[in-house]
Amino acid sequence: MSRQQTIIKESLKALMEDESFLPDLQAQTREQAFNSLVSLLSTPNHIHKSFLRITLENGTIVRIPAFRVQHSNTVGPYKGGIRFHQSVNEDEVSNLAKLMTLKNSLHEIPFGGAKGGVIINPKEYSIKELNLICKKYVQYFHDVIGPDKDIPAPDVGTGEREMDWMMGEYKTTHPGKQYRNSFTGKSIVNGGSLGRREATGKGVYFTYRYMMHNFVKENKKWLKDTENRFAHTALDHVDGKTKIAVQGFGNLGSVAALEAYQCDYLQNKVVAVSDHNVMLYHEEGLDIPALINFAQEHDGELPTSEEQLRDYDVRAEIKERDDLLELDVDVLLLAALEDQIHEDNMKEIKAKIIIEGANGPITEEADKDLADKGVLIIPDILANAGGVIVSYYEWIQGRETQFMTEDEVFDRLFDKLKETMDTILPQFFGDPFPLRQNCYIHSVMKLSTIMYRQGKLY
Ligand code: NAD
Repeated sequence: MSRQQTIIKESLKALMEDESFLPDLQAQTREQAFNSLVSLLSTPNHIHKSFLRITLENGTIVRIPAFRVQHSNTVGPYKGGIRFHQSVNEDEVSNLAKLMTLKNSLHEIPFGGAKGGVIINPKEYSIKELNLICKKYVQYFHDVIGPDKDIPAPDVGTGEREMDWMMGEYKTTHPGKQYRNSFTGKSIVNGGSLGRREATGKGVYFTYRYMMHNFVKENKKWLKDTENRFAHTALDHVDGKTKIAVQGFGNLGSVAALEAYQCDYLQNKVVAVSDHNVMLYHEEGLDIPALINFAQEHDGELPTSEEQLRDYDVRAEIKERDDLLELDVDVLLLAALEDQIHEDNMKEIKAKIIIEGANGPITEEADKDLADKGVLIIPDILANAGGVIVSYYEWIQGRETQFMTEDEVFDRLFDKLKETMDTILPQFFGDPFPLRQNCYIHSVMKLSTIMYRQGKLY
């Protein structure tokens, strides 16, 4: 059973025992309805699978496996990214599709959940071949995607270039139909939203900042008196200097690190950052803007030599990449890949607060172990929704052909995240459950209510 399935099941069990929730459902009918919900929420509605027929530039014809998993459209059209990666598989895509359903429900975004995958290493294909793969993906799945059916977005290995190509193909295959909001994460000239690129990184840092600065600081007295161990972890870190380490310096990690570096509300120091090559460390804090400049000029990579550090006037020690996770810091911000903290390294983690920027960066065993030790984990479902929230604004802008300014986008994004946290945090700090479980209960509660009211539980 996947981790999500376990949490969904536990959340529904807690809701079934709460008699004030869906009180019309009584006795055997109640049990049946909750068993049905476990099954409905644990499995996808559809798994579409194809083998894309691609003629490579050298004339060889290859078949490339591709999928689109549509988990749920209870709340609105399916929504989720398309991942191009050599190790992507049906299970991974299904789990990510489920997480999208739960994330959208938690943040009250009127979308369901989906995810796509193509099994390729995009670095091994020419631009022309990638363009063909994108076009074929749209041709093969053309009847199941669309602005009111299923709206894909970028994910690992895809970006605005691929979304522009896919939208272009959708337009060709659906002449005379609405096409601008068939994909999100597009370039600005093609109807993308201002602020979409920075949305996830900004949202991830905002979630942490809002929790600590706005909620914990303002509720110190109440939190001191609670027995909730996570409240005490937060209180121990709300005042004074906080050392932060950021794993991953791509789109999400670099933006989140910059937000932490520039934050006036909390006394943060970003002492370490890493990418797939290297970790950079400086006790007094790294010069994040200089590192972003370097990365922009070097294909997204961090400096790996003393000479490069000198050229950009960055004071840092060069260290082993994976040692970042075990540093003696207060906060770890995970912005790289899945399964980074696991059984083999969980005992070495010293940070007391972990923010999940990436999806699923902590395995189930490690999650439990860290929570038992009182580590406050701000989960992916809560922290990294900035991308899908601004995708929703992009979808609306595409429908209306009216565009928001960047400030309007960020104001709306932060208001939305604030709304979610104002609902979740008082309950979380009053309950014995870890924050992930709390978010799941909330999300599953909304989905169950909607399904019940739509008559789907008979
Ligand atoms: P990205 O490809 O831009 O950046 C990934 C970064 O991680 C790169 O700096 C890469 O060098 C680094 N990295 C790879 N392996 C590493 C390792 N073992 N140790 C340290 N660093 C390593 O990707 P991104 O858009 O920044 O996304 C990061 C993660 O967040 C992904 O898992 C993605 O699914 C998730 N996510 C992204 C968004 C978004 O809108 N960008 C939204 C939700 C979730």
